[in-house]
Amino acid sequence: MSSTTEHNAFFIGGEYRAPAGTGRITVISPNTEEPIGSVPDGTEADIDAAVAAARQAFTDKSGWGGWSPAQRADAMERLADELDKRAADLAQAVSAQNGMPIAIAGQLEAVFPQLLLRYYAGLAREYPFEETRPGLLGGSTLVTADPVGVVGAIVPWNFPQALAAFKYAPGLAAGATFVFKPSPETVFDAYTLADAVAAAGIPDGVINIVPGGREVGAYLVSHPGVDKVAFTGSTAAGRTISEVCGRLLRPVTLELGGKSAAIILDDADLDLTRVGEQIFSATLLNNGQTCFLGTRILAPRSRYDEVVQTFAGLAGSLQVGSALEATTQIGPMVSARQRERVESYIAKGKGDGATVAAGGGRPQALDRGWFVEPTVFAGVDNNHAIAQEEIFGPVLSIISYDGDDDAVAIANASDYGLGGSVWTSDHDHGVSVARRVETGSIGINAYLPDPTAPFGGVKSSGLGRELGPEGLAAYLVKKSVYL
Ligand code: NAD
Repeated sequence: MSSTTEHNAFFIGGEYRAPAGTGRITVISPNTEEPIGSVPDGTEADIDAAVAAARQAFTDKSGWGGWSPAQRADAMERLADELDKRAADLAQAVSAQNGMPIAIAGQLEAVFPQLLLRYYAGLAREYPFEETRPGLLGGSTLVTADPVGVVGAIVPWNFPQALAAFKYAPGLAAGATFVFKPSPETVFDAYTLADAVAAAGIPDGVINIVPGGREVGAYLVSHPGVDKVAFTGSTAAGRTISEVCGRLLRPVTLELGGKSAAIILDDADLDLTRVGEQIFSATLLNNGQTCFLGTRILAPRSRYDEVVQTFAGLAGSLQVGSALEATTQIGPMVSARQRERVESYIAKGKGDGATVAAGGGRPQALDRGWFVEPTVFAGVDNNHAIAQEEIFGPVLSIISYDGDDDAVAIANASDYGLGGSVWTSDHDHGVSVARRVETGSIGINAYLPDPTAPFGGVKSSGLGRELGPEGLAAYLVKKSVYL
């Protein structure tokens, strides 16, 4: 980016309003380490204004609060169309801020939200928002599914648009209203979303956006005007938020960290010309900064050396460079701090006795930007820190196993349970192993969350589900009227 992006207001109540405070968030490019623009830093007063606008929209029976599901669905489809018009801008903004390769941003950040909006618009039209059930005691019951109210939604920087849509697409279908707090690392794309919301004729106050840091996020979580919290981020923050919501008895959905297993069965096809793209997406997508990645590669002892060679070959072949180059496969880490974290894990891996089979340092040809070489460790024990803790960078650990039972035991010996994959030429065998893994979702010979299926974690990876009809149910409250 040659020029910088500057914003001076927040999207609240359908308009751009001056911020209450004077602080600014400056975004530094992970590609160049140069500032690329700034936006106001949200304060408690801005959150108050946003929650009030969301409440007003929610209770306005002559507006959003009185709209039928079909009217909401129409508006959601208009929003999808408006996002389509802005797809290139969204992809560019995301890649410039968080280092996501632009080819991936173009496929996911600029496309997935529209897919979700259109899917949930369809669901809104056919969903049984109320039903009458015959009772056992002579009468019957009218059961209604009502929108949960005002949602405080907090999203991380790694997929800022897709993860926001995981929340607003089902939430709009339900009739909820939102206050979004984007991460300070990714703020510009939120303004493009706001423009699209306004252009789509979504009523004022249904979606409000106030970027800010974790204190403002914490304020939103405990705000008395918020009826539900939807959070995606780290397990540490999720635990704190969960404690607050527990005390307030406030419904909360938590999509947290992961350390998933990619289980290579002894009959897996590892020919990278055939499966390289799927393996890449399941283990290294978005520079390793994706929650569901299978970063623990479980390899049968009989094929261990071949698996190490395959992954080392894959890592070594990847094009590392500026996220804004069309051919880049691995961009920089989002921040200097994140690169330090990744490098500290690489040092820990070496210190614990694992062997570097590929990468392990910074790419020599790139002297600006927070780059780390795609790194593969062999000889990893599942108890090593690099096998147990979420690194959130392009670092894979290859662990050997003996037989299916051992593979499943190692896969399950983790605090996390979010994603995962099984690689095999025998579909049924793959599914039977997948059934035994303690996780919220798992793929056979690939991994990509599908909008129609529930997505979420078990154990320390979270609570509740997004996507699918389950994701819609998370924004509805059931009520029984005994007739
Ligand atoms: P983070 O938890 O530091 O921050 C996430 C968001 O929460 C940010 O907007 C931040 O400002 C806010 N926040 C932090 N502490 C808060 C608090 N106490 N109260 C309210 N808000 C708070 O996480 P991050 O480093 O931005 O994102 C990376 C993490 O997100 C990784 O652990 C990754 O696995 C996880 N993640 C999970 C999923 C999923 O669907 N399970 C998806 C993407 C990322």
